[in-house]
Amino acid sequence: MRIGYGFDSHEFTPGVPLKIGGIDIASDKGLAGHSDGDVLLHAVTDALLGAVAAGDIGGYFPPSDPKWKGADSAIFVREAVQQVRRAGYAVANVDSTLVLQSPKIGPHATAIRARMAELLGIELSRVSVKAKTPEGLNLPNTASAHVIVLLTEHREAGELAMKAAESMPQSVVDAEVEQVLEKSGPELRKRRTAPRKKS
Ligand code: MG
Repeated sequence: MRIGYGFDSHEFTPGVPLKIGGIDIASDKGLAGHSDGDVLLHAVTDALLGAVAAGDIGGYFPPSDPKWKGADSAIFVREAVQQVRRAGYAVANVDSTLVLQSPKIGPHATAIRARMAELLGIELSRVSVKAKTPEGLNLPNTASAHVIVLLTEHREAGELAMKAAESMPQSVVDAEVEQVLEKSGPELRKRRTAPRKKS
């Protein structure tokens, strides 16, 4: 098992679109900075990379590189998920806390969870999104995100990814790993929920 933690913060800027957890939220101000400014997906990316000691988001996608300006942060999460799989792990669950004065996240929480679950390739029930206002922090113009992830070992996916990476294009490798994880997912669930024999 592995655990990973990610943190990020961005400043609110008027007239910028607001995107949190991969979801567009109607607001007169958005988050400026690296890519599309998605503070939550950036923290998710760092939590995933941190769990497998694979560096951080800035190492893969430097903010100084104009190529990432305005980029969809889903790209960063997908890369981090691939790093997790290559290291031989699968995502077990994700918990997150957003800290911001406004807008309210509650009405968007389910959509954000669904998008994160999709990007991570896990069930909705394994993704948690909580939000609170920055009481006493005097940060009315800042949105920050704390994310923690738990990974479980998945040797088969890791070995396959390592072996195949030597001779196959990355897209083919990723598709094969995806298949292995999909096949073993329901099986693992079945095993976990099977009734125990009485001793
Ligand atoms: Mg960021």
